Amino acid sequence: MSFASLGLAPALVRAVREQGYHAPTAIQAAAIPAVLTGHDVLGLAQTGSGKTAAFALPLLQRLVTGKRPEPRRPQALVLAPTRELAVQTGEVLRDLARSLPERLKIAVAFGGVSINPQLMGLRGGCDLIVATPGRLLDLVDHNALRFDALELLVLDEADRLLDLGFAEELQRILALLPAQRQNLFFSATFPARVQALAEGLLREPQRIEI
Ligand code: AMP
Repeated sequence: MSFASLGLAPALVRAVREQGYHAPTAIQAAAIPAVLTGHDVLGLAQTGSGKTAAFALPLLQRLVTGKRPEPRRPQALVLAPTRELAVQTGEVLRDLARSLPERLKIAVAFGGVSINPQLMGLRGGCDLIVATPGRLLDLVDHNALRFDALELLVLDEADRLLDLGFAEELQRILALLPAQRQNLFFSATFPARVQALAEGLLREPQRIEI
């Protein structure tokens, strides 16, 4: 199994090679083709499984094969439970996006620090944003973001998003997004609350369990 055989563009195949990845992990082999065909995906996988690249690669490919909205505004949103995960996911996306023919602007936003640099960073818009839920809503309240061009939502570590008390913020965010979009839902565990969130969010998802 190779990355190229999963349907990834040559630039992204080069990018994974530069990261030192030789072959896709199990979650990547299953999730990349599913995301590329536009399906909603329910991925049950642990950290360490390679789940970040499993959504980052097809997400980037979908962005660069489509048109960018004018003025620039986010086409993809990745919600992460913690600052650490948001930063780490932003780095993976930026590393993989570097080799693309088009420069994508990837924003990362999280709470616990001043909002001002993040507001400045969003001037001129972004193509993709990785954020923790509370700070994302703060940015929306500051009119720094609008989601009318959003095509793709990723909930990363959905179980931890709920464990950390973000259920209400998630519902507020979901209400801001266009109904017509692709949803990717990743969780390490799948208790009833997480299952209920997934059922409310996903349409005929392809379920991938590693
Ligand atoms: P994650 O589960 O996304 O947190 O990834 C865990 C680690 O695996 C990270 O350090 C990645 O850089 C690495 N990784 C992801 N995909 C691959 C791959 N296909 N081959 C080798 N390492 C990988």
